[in-house]
Parts: sequence; C-alpha cells; structure tokens
Amino acid sequence: MLNVGSLNEGIVLDHIKAGKSMDIYKYLGLDKLDCQVAIIKNARSNKMGRKDIIKIEGSLDLVDLDILGFIDHDITVNIIRNSEICEKKELSLPHTIKNVLKCKNPRCISTIEQELDQIFILADEEKEVYRCKYCEEKYDNIQV
Ligand SMILES: [Zn+2]
Repeated sequence: MLNVGSLNEGIVLDHIKAGKSMDIYKYLGLDKLDCQVAIIKNARSNKMGRKDIIKIEGSLDLVDLDILGFIDHDITVNIIRNSEICEKKELSLPHTIKNVLKCKNPRCISTIEQELDQIFILADEEKEVYRCKYCEEKYDNIQV
C-alpha cells in the first residue's frame, strides 16, 4: 500500500522508472506551479526494483495526462482525497500531442509559421511512432 503521507488532496504518480522523475517534473511544468510537490527517488518496488514517485498537492487538472501517457504509459496515477486513494487512472498513448514535440523538418509549415500549434499524431501505436500533422515527419524513439 502506497503511503500518501501528509497528502490530503492531490495526485500521486507511482511506478515512474527510477531516474525519470525530474524529466517528468519538467515536462509537466511542475516547476511553474505554486503547489507542493514531493519527489521520491529510488523507492523500493516489488515490481520494478527501484522506482520514482511524485506527489502533487492539488487537483487533477494540474497534470496533463496526455503528456504523461506519452512519456510513459506504465505510470500509475493515483487520485487522493481525504488522505486516501480514491481513484486510479490508466494512462494510454495519446492520439494527438499538442505543443510538446517540435517538428525537425526545416521546411515544415509549423517551423516557418511560429504561431501554428505543433501537433503530432499517433501513426503506429505498437511502435509508438508519432508524425507531424503538417508534413508527416516522423518522431519516434521517445526519450525524455
Ligand atoms: Zn512538420
């Protein structure tokens, strides 16, 4: 059973691959939020050996679950209310990713027109391949 500690209301991201918590912290923009965030690194896990955990105080809309699913859909999202886990959310690969990835094609319209949203669409779910919506440039080997 996960110890949620002093968290009364918030989100616990569990089963993060050991060493990945700081990347997730950055990707989710948690450094820009005022809420309390606790990062636990190298926690012992029966399933994974070592894992990272992030605890965030506040409501679920602080966290973009699409981005999280894109980074690692094996992360468990626990919703905490009244100091207890009231809900677990399954993550999946998002169908579209907006303004997270940048197209590498220098001739792509999204590179030229700066005000356009950077949109990538899931092209191959099994191989986790995303392609630029505008020029179909591939973005694979997800590494964060
Ligand atoms: Zn493109």
